[in-house]
Amino acid sequence: MTQDELFKVLVAHCKEYGFIFPSSEIYDGLAAVYDYGQMGVELKNNIKSYWWNAMTRLNENIVGIDSCIFMHPKIWEASGHVAAFNDPLIDNKDSKKRYRADVLIEEYLGKIEEKINKEVAKGKKKFGENFDEEQFRATNPNVLRELAKYNEVHNRYVAAENANDLAEYKQIILDCGIVCPISGTCNWTDVRQFNLMFSTSMGAASEGANTIYLRPETAQGIFVNYLNVQKTGRMKLPFGIAQIGKAFRNEIVARQFIFRMREFEQMEMQFFIKPGTELDWFKQWKENRMKWHVNLGMGAENYRFHDHEKLAHYANAATDVEFRFPFGFKELEGIHSRTNFDLGNHQKYSGKKIQYFDPESGESYVPYVIETSIGVDRMFLAVLSNSYKEEVLESGETRVVLSIPAPIAPVKAAVMPLVKNNEELTNLAQSIMNDLKYDFNCQYDEKDSIGKRYRRQDAIGTPYCITVDHESLEDHCVTVRDRDTMQQERIPIAELRSLIDKKVNLNNLLRNL
Ligand code: ATP
Repeated sequence: MTQDELFKVLVAHCKEYGFIFPSSEIYDGLAAVYDYGQMGVELKNNIKSYWWNAMTRLNENIVGIDSCIFMHPKIWEASGHVAAFNDPLIDNKDSKKRYRADVLIEEYLGKIEEKINKEVAKGKKKFGENFDEEQFRATNPNVLRELAKYNEVHNRYVAAENANDLAEYKQIILDCGIVCPISGTCNWTDVRQFNLMFSTSMGAASEGANTIYLRPETAQGIFVNYLNVQKTGRMKLPFGIAQIGKAFRNEIVARQFIFRMREFEQMEMQFFIKPGTELDWFKQWKENRMKWHVNLGMGAENYRFHDHEKLAHYANAATDVEFRFPFGFKELEGIHSRTNFDLGNHQKYSGKKIQYFDPESGESYVPYVIETSIGVDRMFLAVLSNSYKEEVLESGETRVVLSIPAPIAPVKAAVMPLVKNNEELTNLAQSIMNDLKYDFNCQYDEKDSIGKRYRRQDAIGTPYCITVDHESLEDHCVTVRDRDTMQQERIPIAELRSLIDKKVNLNNLLRNL
């Protein structure tokens, strides 16, 4: 299956098994807006718990808040979003499709990079153990030709970005012969800036309604509460404030399922520090966050850092944690050294002093900030795309299994009487279910053959299936089947809880951090 096909299959699987539905589906949906179903909400909540507990429980100096989506409109002037939260937009006149000009150029550069990597892989195959990659990259004529092309376009792109030169974006697209994937033509409009914030009005018109924005990030809710939390929590620097919540962006391109949504959720943490210490803390948070990701067990090779060359106006260092999605390595999380830009500007725009008195040095200053910002939905997609597997079994049948890391799986165990019309079996199965449900999210399933029931649980990623059979009534044991190995083991009912707990308890994941 190609990665493209895998992605389509995954989207269909998400709907079929109650993970994700298109929003307003009976009205033909709403572009780039999705609802989470009965399975999806469990997985999403588990992802959020893993992040929230890693931040607020494991770090004594990080506390959480929950601020509102609606905020004073001046906040978005102070943060720079009114003036600069724009994407460069371009339309193809033939297909009438809209694209982000920067993304078109980045994809073009990505393709050149791919070509270079393919050349290198060919060389590796040819020369075997004697292969010297550095020398190959420095001398192979095909690599050098592609690299020269890459550098030329890349330099023009960075210069255009820094100068905010929209005409140059278009010229690069034309010079590189980038075509619309739908119409296949170069018939492009000029590039325009497009502000991504949604606005609405608050208060009845007669009272003089105010234009307010749906927040495009949760971070500003943290900044404007900095003083409240610092004072009431008697927090000393360095300390962090974490928040999980909805954010809204009127994204230009909305064709990548939950990777890019117009309403999505973020998990953000702002870490307040003494000016001058930011690069050390930036490094520390890069390490911490990568550890959090890799600890889930989805393969360290599927993550990489992408350091930003062009820094946002407020940042003095920035990196993305990229994940290998079915459509390539893409941003999953951003880590930014935001200096004192946000607090400094809120101080200026609000006229309120936002400073920290440092008892050690006796000085007062506006703290610097390191931000970690991850999209819940992108994390969800990372987990699902990494977990989805179609396996051919010895019998020749295929099974679809979601090997979701057990501590965040939506359902932890399914309890099944071998047959459904036997009161003794169903009673025992129900009593096991009633006992386990306080510790784990369990499903009771008595419909269809055991084989079918196993497949259903595999398809939603349930780590354990527990079958109650006639012997169970005598020996007080049940058959426990493991999702990943499909091995079955006979276990005393009294030991079930500790067996399941060992594998699915989120605390075990947290302990490894
Ligand atoms: P991109 O370059 O992909 O548009 P960004 O750099 O604008 O992302 P940030 O502003 O750094 O993203 O937001 C932090 C995180 O929020 C991202 O790493 C991503 O996980 C998530 N995120 C941002 N925009 C969206 C969106 N439209 N849909 C889903 N998640 C998003």
